[in-house]
Amino acid sequence: MSLTNRILIAMLVGILVGTLLNLILGSTGISEGIRSFLHVYIVDGVLDVIGRMFVSSLKLLVVPLVLVSLICGSSSLGDSVRMGPIAGKSMGLYLLTTALAIGSALLVAVLVGPGENINGASGTNFTTTPTPPFMNILVNIVPSNPIAAMAEGNMLQIIVFALLFGYAISHAGESGQRIANFFRDLEQVIMRLVMVLMALAPYGIFALLASLFSKLGFAVILDLAAYFFTVLGVLIFHAVVTYSLLLKVLSGLSPWPLLKKMRSAWAFAFSTASSGATLPITLETAEHRLGVHKEVAGFVVPLGATINMDGTAIMQGVATVFIAQVYGVDMTMTDYVTVIFTATLASIGTAGAPGVGLIMLSMVLTQVGLPVEGIALIIGVDRLLDMVRTSVNVTGDAMVSVLVGKSEGKLDKGVYLDPHADI
Ligand code: ASP
Repeated sequence: MSLTNRILIAMLVGILVGTLLNLILGSTGISEGIRSFLHVYIVDGVLDVIGRMFVSSLKLLVVPLVLVSLICGSSSLGDSVRMGPIAGKSMGLYLLTTALAIGSALLVAVLVGPGENINGASGTNFTTTPTPPFMNILVNIVPSNPIAAMAEGNMLQIIVFALLFGYAISHAGESGQRIANFFRDLEQVIMRLVMVLMALAPYGIFALLASLFSKLGFAVILDLAAYFFTVLGVLIFHAVVTYSLLLKVLSGLSPWPLLKKMRSAWAFAFSTASSGATLPITLETAEHRLGVHKEVAGFVVPLGATINMDGTAIMQGVATVFIAQVYGVDMTMTDYVTVIFTATLASIGTAGAPGVGLIMLSMVLTQVGLPVEGIALIIGVDRLLDMVRTSVNVTGDAMVSVLVGKSEGKLDKGVYLDPHADI
């Protein structure tokens, strides 16, 4: 059975087992002894430990993989890689997709009115954490210490360092050639490591999802059904319709191979709720399944995992309208424009880790004068939505890498169309 299928089965079984555990733990029919056994040894024991080890094993790949594949990419083709246009196009497309995401989120939320029948003042409390100023992101792009950047996993700084280093290698004659060979060998070894850890993924994904679903309270979904399904609907629309149309219109490519080949990346994004932890899989998918050359994928995908969060922007758009409706605040046209700008910035500033989008939402709410405590209303269903929006986030990264690759002549169409091109 292919790895993708095993991962998808692990995902389904994990969700089922977790839901079952949730029902058992919540029922009154079981003895205290069994309940605490399941809690301590199964949910908080085996499942939690395996799940957390799995996420760490994914994260451990991120820095070496991005660094080495970008150095290889930018050094091997030297002058034939047009870094400027690649960077310009990816930034432009990332902004465009985010603007479309937030635009559709606002439109649908206003039409559906998810917060109209809910009364605010329901004794909520939510303490805010200060959001990082946006300008810092720009200033901090250039690393003053590349080792510190790697130790902290600062993706933008690592990207800048790797590009500079790769450029220097390609212009350093024979010495550069020797170093380039070393990095090419290193890349092979790291790829092998990715394969080894990927083979263990079904167990990790099962454990993560079983432990998560055993703790999720599904009743809150019913209370917040209008909000939950509005966000979910826009997320699915964006991933399936908007991305497909963009791909078709801008590159002429059929979107089906992209959507089909993203399945295993979705399983990772869904179970970890982290674009950062999913990065090795998104990168693998872009290079080996979608046929984007590594000098393009190695740049566009890590950049996207850091700044492109369409799913997050969608949640922030719907949440803003929802909170305004719950508190009975009428939003003006200027407010909507402000939301479009700040949610775009907030999603750029959101780190690819679980739940960060919700923290950044406070920045959007503050800008339009809405009560930040409103976040407490939606926190109960956020983890589930986070899993779905992270899947949308990583799909956007892969889709943009295909578009940029195609327009730069760096897309292997044979691989893109080949249904068997697999990891
Ligand atoms: N979990 C999301 C991601 O990693 C970010 C967020 O919206 O919270 O892409």
